[in-house]
Amino acid sequence: MQENFDVIVIGGGPGGYVCAIRSAQLGFKTACVESRKTLGGTCLNVGCIPSKSLLNLSEIYHKAQTEFNNLGIEANSIKLNLSKMMNNKDRSVLTLTKGVEYLFKKNKIAYLRGYGSITSKNTVTVVDESKKKSHYQTENIVISTGSIPVSLPKIKIDEKIIVSSTGALSFSKVPKKLIIIGGGYIGLEMGSVWKRLGSEVTVVEFLDHIIPGMDGDISNEFLKILKKQGIDFELNSKVNAVAQVKGQAIVSFTNNKSAKIERVQADKVLVAVGRKPNIDGLNLTKMGIEKDNQGRIQINKKFQTKFENIYAIGDVIPGPMLAHKAEDEGIAVAEIIAGQSGHVNYKVIPAVIYTHPEVACVGKTEEELKKEKIEYKVGKFPFLANSRAKVNNETEGFVKIIANKKSDKVLGAHMIGPQVGTMIAEVALAMEFGASSEDIARTCHAHPTHTEAIKEAALAVDKRSIHY
Ligand SMILES: Cc1cc2nc3c(=O)[nH]c(=O)nc-3n(C[C@H](O)[C@H](O)[C@H](O)COP(=O)(O)OP(=O)(O)OC[C@H]3O[C@@H](n4cnc5c(N)ncnc54)[C@H](O)[C@@H]3O)c2cc1C
Repeated sequence: MQENFDVIVIGGGPGGYVCAIRSAQLGFKTACVESRKTLGGTCLNVGCIPSKSLLNLSEIYHKAQTEFNNLGIEANSIKLNLSKMMNNKDRSVLTLTKGVEYLFKKNKIAYLRGYGSITSKNTVTVVDESKKKSHYQTENIVISTGSIPVSLPKIKIDEKIIVSSTGALSFSKVPKKLIIIGGGYIGLEMGSVWKRLGSEVTVVEFLDHIIPGMDGDISNEFLKILKKQGIDFELNSKVNAVAQVKGQAIVSFTNNKSAKIERVQADKVLVAVGRKPNIDGLNLTKMGIEKDNQGRIQINKKFQTKFENIYAIGDVIPGPMLAHKAEDEGIAVAEIIAGQSGHVNYKVIPAVIYTHPEVACVGKTEEELKKEKIEYKVGKFPFLANSRAKVNNETEGFVKIIANKKSDKVLGAHMIGPQVGTMIAEVALAMEFGASSEDIARTCHAHPTHTEAIKEAALAVDKRSIHY
């Protein structure tokens, strides 16, 4: 038996590493087990960070090609060097994962490299690269082992021709034709990257709309914009199979309405149909730790499993699979272990799609409010009438604010347009403070900024926007 700890976190992603840091800040002797070679989890290694790097770089490349000349910036013979672009992305990932390692040292957190499992209520067993087993005693265990991509029946991801997001972040050359199965945010972000870099991109989606769960107005507008950018969509279509013939993929899908079967050839197929909790190998069944029918660990309001000292956070539990949600749960659990009242407000978790333009939302959609029979009013303001968006030639999209009809309390905000991924924080903060649309409308916003569109949308809730 080796060292004893107060808290052992299994998984070094945004949920796990943040929980470890907060635990150490609260004075607990803390360890974090990670099986990957670097810290930071899916988010830093194969998720948020590398995808945002490629989104940023591909957008600069695309702008340089299509817009610079018109703006008076004469840049001739612009060429793509994909391997340099990938190196840049890899460097960003390395800097950030090393940053987490530094934070562990700074906070005196033991970094246990290897695969962790729970072998008793108070024991975590770690198997390292050389298969050496070590057992650690601990007062508390936090499971934060994240999620992994899922595929469709009979479609096997080989990360060569049929890839998950991980493969799509590292193509060594630009695919001539890329088919994306799934019109959620991961598929659309990766589709945007490769479209800008020169691929012909088709998205095949089972539903009749993209980004399921987001506000209908946003989904419709986003679809229009992406189509204008040249991405093709096959909505209402069920993928039946993906065959591989001579290094190419042939995707067959059936239109749900017409029952017509299509077969389309592509160099690469990205399967982006969702992710599932990564819990195999943790010994949960033997421990009697329960899962729901989607494989998510069952917890109570304090994130406790059936053992009061074994907690679970992040992508392994219900709720949106988002890094910031995992981080906030990590902080909440550390504080709960310390006897404080850590909590997460699930009504105010923003979500962002980092395409161009960006998409961002927080709170209730109109569809949800209708279902819940809550009366509401809506204010909308287009970026076309926002001076900053106009000078920057980025006028697509709008801000939409939804407020309670009687009390005027802000219930949700949905935005598509430039910078909205950053702007959404303003409404999230307002909602945390229980603000009304009147509060936002009466807050002085700097001019000329994109955020004036939020103020104007809040004014529009009461039909008194100034610039539209
Ligand atoms: C392409 C892509 C883009 C994304 N973009 C965004 C975005 O822009 N914004 C956003 O909020 N979210 C984004 N996400 C989602 C985000 O990455 C996840 O929600 C987040 O990483 C979840 O954090 P986590 O700590 O729960 O798990 P993870 O980040 O998955 O970390 C879990 C860690 O646990 C380790 N592990 C698993 N089992 C064991 C074990 N038994 N022993 C030791 N270690 C183990 C894994 O190796 C992993 O490193 C994206 C995801 C993908 C795939």
